[in-house]
Amino acid sequence: MEHLYASDSHNHSSCSPDGKDTVSAMCSRAAELGLYAYTLTDHCECQKYELQYRPRVKTAWEEMEKAASGPLRFYRGIEMGQPNQAPEAARDALAGRDYDFIIGSIHNIRGFEDFFFLDYTEEEPDFIDRLLSAYWQELLEVIQWGNFDSLGHLTYPLRYIEGDHGIPVDLSKHKNQIDQVFSALIRAEKALEVNTSGLRQKIGCTMPDLPLLARYRELGGRLVTLGSDAHCAEDLGKGIDVGMELLQQAGFTEFAVYEKRKPVLLPLQ
Ligand SMILES: [Zn+2]
Ligand SMILES: [Zn+2]
Repeated sequence: MEHLYASDSHNHSSCSPDGKDTVSAMCSRAAELGLYAYTLTDHCECQKYELQYRPRVKTAWEEMEKAASGPLRFYRGIEMGQPNQAPEAARDALAGRDYDFIIGSIHNIRGFEDFFFLDYTEEEPDFIDRLLSAYWQELLEVIQWGNFDSLGHLTYPLRYIEGDHGIPVDLSKHKNQIDQVFSALIRAEKALEVNTSGLRQKIGCTMPDLPLLARYRELGGRLVTLGSDAHCAEDLGKGIDVGMELLQQAGFTEFAVYEKRKPVLLPLQ
């Protein structure tokens, strides 16, 4: 890594259904890369908690407890998907486990599959704008739910709409709603994540991108976290150095890693 404090606070092991490598393989890679801090954040898709995620969350926690005894500066995290849609499941998933860091994410809006699975080509012309509008609204609900530290991969639907399907989206139509998300996040003293997975995917930029990071800062946002969203050891740490530079371009001097749900501020240089 090029930056002294380069840290990865969003990634997945094989405890997630779409993750490839074990917790111990992920930790070995983090040590090999020389990450300053490493936070693992396996999935809990709250609306599928009873059917699928309850045992996975338990296993992930047990594996992380073992890993925490190693020499690495390791933090135990979780990515909570759709906690607003299933708050009781979210409460149950987090109960009795003292996570260091919790990401709040939206991967699908009510009544729809994950944005990954949607067909964006066959729908009426304003379908995408209505979808995005519902997405910002559900992010506000996640912020209102409140039991998280950083908002995951803002603009996640664009990874598929613009990236995979090549349909351009004019975000200026969504400025008011995005500003509302930023303002709510700042008021709630939560962080905004810079998710670098887009840099290695078709969309080709971080989620959110530089103009949105600058807007968040302009509105008073200061807390930011960084994550590769790696689903295998090989991708761990990818794009973190670029993300740290983008944050500096947007005017930030520090980023946060979380220990026992409290931000530890580290220099971006
Ligand atoms: Zn996610
Ligand atoms: Zn993730």
